[in-house]
Amino acid sequence: MKKYLLSPPHMSGEEQIYIEQAFKDNWIAPLGPNVVEFEKKIAEYNGVEDCLVTSSGTSAIHLALRLLGVTHGDTVFCSTFTFIASINPAIYLGAKPVFIDSDYETWGMCPKSLEKALQAAKNNGKLPKVIIVVHLYGQSAQIEDIISIASKYGIPVIEDAAEALGAEYNGKKLGTFGEFGIFSFNGNKIITTSGGGALIGKSKSAIQRARFLSSQAKEDKPYYYHKEIGYNYRLSNVLAGIGIAQMNVLDQRIAKKRDIFSTYKTYLGAITDISFMPENIRSYGNRWLTTLLFSKEIKDSSICILNERGIETRRLWKPLHTQPIFKNCQFYSATGDVSSILYKHGMCLPSGTMLTNEDISIIAREVMNCNVFFNRSVSK
Ligand SMILES: *Cc1c(COP(=O)(O)O)cnc(C)c1O
Repeated sequence: MKKYLLSPPHMSGEEQIYIEQAFKDNWIAPLGPNVVEFEKKIAEYNGVEDCLVTSSGTSAIHLALRLLGVTHGDTVFCSTFTFIASINPAIYLGAKPVFIDSDYETWGMCPKSLEKALQAAKNNGKLPKVIIVVHLYGQSAQIEDIISIASKYGIPVIEDAAEALGAEYNGKKLGTFGEFGIFSFNGNKIITTSGGGALIGKSKSAIQRARFLSSQAKEDKPYYYHKEIGYNYRLSNVLAGIGIAQMNVLDQRIAKKRDIFSTYKTYLGAITDISFMPENIRSYGNRWLTTLLFSKEIKDSSICILNERGIETRRLWKPLHTQPIFKNCQFYSATGDVSSILYKHGMCLPSGTMLTNEDISIIAREVMNCNVFFNRSVSK
């Protein structure tokens, strides 16, 4: 049986060249020419001065929070509708999360809910130190509105663009609106180094400081000398080699992901009980995953049945404010709980860039047939 995975790695074939070079030069250890080249490529692609590549997207978020001075007892606002990695580093630093609801237009952080939470925080005399905004499934949140609300209160924004490399809002790359932006090169992301991440930011000196913190905060001296605590967060020269070749095909991958989305839409778009994740008119998403909503709530059994048939589907992110670990945390919404509704009705479809149109038609048929939609038992 053919397996249709959610978003498997898709190598271009050129990765080997850079890996072999690293082996030939015995430049396996961290840093080295591939790292320098990979960082340069990401910076140029996004139109920023500097970039730091890291061991993961999570470590890039950790560094961004450190640079913004987040520490024990601070509050950090974060989109609730996301993967837990968006907020974990804030917890490492001893901060308390407050979760903000989504809007239906983007599924990202709702500007009205953010305003409500900021107003409440101001009244309580405890504004957040940072706001983490997530661009879900490669689609932009209402980032300009969010930035303008945040700046009214003087709060810096980190864009978690782990899923949104290459996506744009008003012709500007996601990750370049906030004080910092982060990307992930984890195995299932739009491009991958098997594991890795990147940090970009408005200030070149901040990225240089992140580079220092990511190398155990070792001072530039001929002996080991430390004035503060750092991390071991650098990406290896071998993995950066994979990244260089992957960057070369990023725009191709985005075009293909968008194509996959439209193909699914031609097969499933006419069904009134199905709707697709919207795209804001000002945004150009990378459509990392094709995601849809059913008018009925999805049953776990439907996901399992599809998986048994080789079609890896998943629910959308389970909102963080509904996770047991965060049960005592605050949650703000202007309109109820949009993220929980999205969670109950939403599904991610296989979106690997090696899918053919025929694959997509097969998957679409199975999705239509599964009881998630017609609410009837499955027969085959
Ligand atoms: C993948 C992902 C991360 C974490 O990236 P890693 O490289 O796996 O650490 C963070 N946030 C979101 C929204 C993600 O999807």
